[in-house]
Amino acid sequence: MTPQYRPVKTAVLASILAVLCALIGSSPTSAASDNPTARGSMWSYRFITKAWNGNPARWNPCAPIDYKVNTRYANRGALSDTKRAVARVSATTGLRFVYRGSTRVVPGSRHGDRYPSGIDLVVAWAKPWQSDALRRSPGAAGVGGVSWTTGYDRSGRTTPRIVQGRVILNANVKLRGGFWSARGGSRGELLMHEIGHAVGLTHPRQQDRWQIMYPTLTGKPALWGAGDRSGLWRVGRTRGCVYRSRPGTTMRATQSSTQSATMR
Ligand SMILES: [Zn+2]
Repeated sequence: MTPQYRPVKTAVLASILAVLCALIGSSPTSAASDNPTARGSMWSYRFITKAWNGNPARWNPCAPIDYKVNTRYANRGALSDTKRAVARVSATTGLRFVYRGSTRVVPGSRHGDRYPSGIDLVVAWAKPWQSDALRRSPGAAGVGGVSWTTGYDRSGRTTPRIVQGRVILNANVKLRGGFWSARGGSRGELLMHEIGHAVGLTHPRQQDRWQIMYPTLTGKPALWGAGDRSGLWRVGRTRGCVYRSRPGTTMRATQSSTQSATMR
């Protein structure tokens, strides 16, 4: 048995997205974007999947991630919040994202599932009936996830290679726009959380409410916690390119099936 990949196919975590409203740490000074004095534990992070050798699934940081946004059912300001959340993920991971315009694609829907050519990530607001991923997580404000296949790092070590990302936001859940502390959570907090899933992080085991990857929206100002930052760094650019074949060989990976996981 080679437990190379955890057999998570659409693993939906059982945590209830009870929208908690603890207005913690809402002093204006803590709202500087991506503050280096990040809160909580630097160990509060977890990867969606890892290879047997411990390498987490990653995007190849040596190529841009092209993304489109479906704002058909979104409120005003959704696109600019999305771009800001993507910029925060980019700043912490070193991954480069390129916005490629709007789309009508809803990831996880029966008809609108196919991504336009060259698009790696879709962020979409959708009604729950439109997306199986949302339907499977009743009450969730959003879901995010990745698909991955075999890949290698520069040393030739197996590193699951993320080939597609998805974020689906529940259009029936109305959150306050922006990234400030907000009762029930801000749209910025939700976007950072779900895009965090779309770059390979899942919920930490620790009950660390300072982390954006904490499983429920807390209403705190949307800033990465210390654990978020460690996790994002470990799936980011500093770890080097991710290759389709082992560097120095021309042989393609023999195990090239794609697996996927979506988290709420
Ligand atoms: Zn989540």
